[in-house]
Amino acid sequence: MTGIVVLGSTNMDLVAYVARAPKLGETVTGREFRTVPGGKGANQAVAAARAGGRVAMIGAVGEDEFGERLRHTLTASGVDTDLLRTAEGPSGTAHVVVDDEGGNAIVVIPGANGTVTRLVPGDETVIAAADALLLQLELPLSAVLAGAEAARRHGVRTVLTPAPAQPLPPGLLATVDLLVPNEHEAATLTGIADAHASAQALLRQVPEVVITLGAAGSLHAARDAGTVRVPAPRVEAVDTTGAGDTFVGALVVALGEGRPMPEAMRWASAAAALCVQRPGASTSMPYRTEIEA
Ligand code: ADP
Repeated sequence: MTGIVVLGSTNMDLVAYVARAPKLGETVTGREFRTVPGGKGANQAVAAARAGGRVAMIGAVGEDEFGERLRHTLTASGVDTDLLRTAEGPSGTAHVVVDDEGGNAIVVIPGANGTVTRLVPGDETVIAAADALLLQLELPLSAVLAGAEAARRHGVRTVLTPAPAQPLPPGLLATVDLLVPNEHEAATLTGIADAHASAQALLRQVPEVVITLGAAGSLHAARDAGTVRVPAPRVEAVDTTGAGDTFVGALVVALGEGRPMPEAMRWASAAAALCVQRPGASTSMPYRTEIEA
């Protein structure tokens, strides 16, 4: 079984559904409220575990009731949370307003995620024993860098999802084996809108890149190989939240099983296509038997 460590965020998404979002100073009455466990790190961990990986999560939840629920969401999908700390203070939260047009406005408060500034004893041992370390950018960058460097020391494949989109400190990309941005994140890193050209520019900094292209599929480019484009299955998308995280989680499981990149991308596309046909993020991520089918 593929051993995967995720060093990343956990957030409780607090989602208000309204006809029209309020302007500053205004109060509106909304239609519905939901609390949805999320955070890119936790989402990738759940996706990888459901896809059949053996997954451990490093990060932090808060001491509040959200923290317990976030931890439970992970363990319920089979993720090992022994290294998930419980930090003083609140869990990370994302305050989301979704209007009738599907547009959204989001305030993210890192909470416990902000306390993860470095590795603690025990983390590196678990990273060293893994096949791959999954990283995103919702923890302090000092922790992301420390994780990537630890993985590098032990020859563990580092996979970075550079989200939320932002310019990166020099040095971080040098520790990355596989970069998996969406089109928008790739454009933020390179200043190039075209995905093919953006991938070529990224290869100057990382050996291998997979750019996800939404309904248009995904694109792989590597320094020592050509470019491969894999289409996404045509499906009726109802909620694309978590599609990218599902893709990455499944991709890494397949690569860890020794499948060649194009085959791993097709398998990850099948997983992500299942995710977008159901509402929610972590709740809509498919199990291995569904992906195989
Ligand atoms: P993110 O969710 O990070 O914004 P993308 O939108 O690129 O990333 O989606 C990630 C992957 O999810 C895509 O490469 C594709 O495989 C799958 N996907 C996303 N949207 C759709 C869709 N409408 N139909 C089928 N697959 C989709």
